[in-house]
Amino acid sequence: MDCRRALKIVHGLFYGGAGILLLAILTLSLFRAALVPLVIILSVLGIVSAAAAILLGCRWLRCPRCGASLLLGGRIPSSLPNFCPACGAPLA
Ligand SMILES: [Zn+2]
Repeated sequence: MDCRRALKIVHGLFYGGAGILLLAILTLSLFRAALVPLVIILSVLGIVSAAAAILLGCRWLRCPRCGASLLLGGRIPSSLPNFCPACGAPLA
């Protein structure tokens, strides 16, 4: 998969998961005990989405030439460099 397209998907999953978690916190603070099952479901969805983003980032965000990871010390980068930091190959 194209690195830049993979980064867009990973960002969507990660920030979508963070947004769902925020919605769960907001729901809990506004409705307290009335909607606890909904809060649990939203929390699980948010955590699974963010974890999937990190796992897919580890798998997909790699140099197509040498296979070096493009994660920044385990963090998802906000943008990709133009060239691979390990081998110098241009990243599509
Ligand atoms: Zn490389």
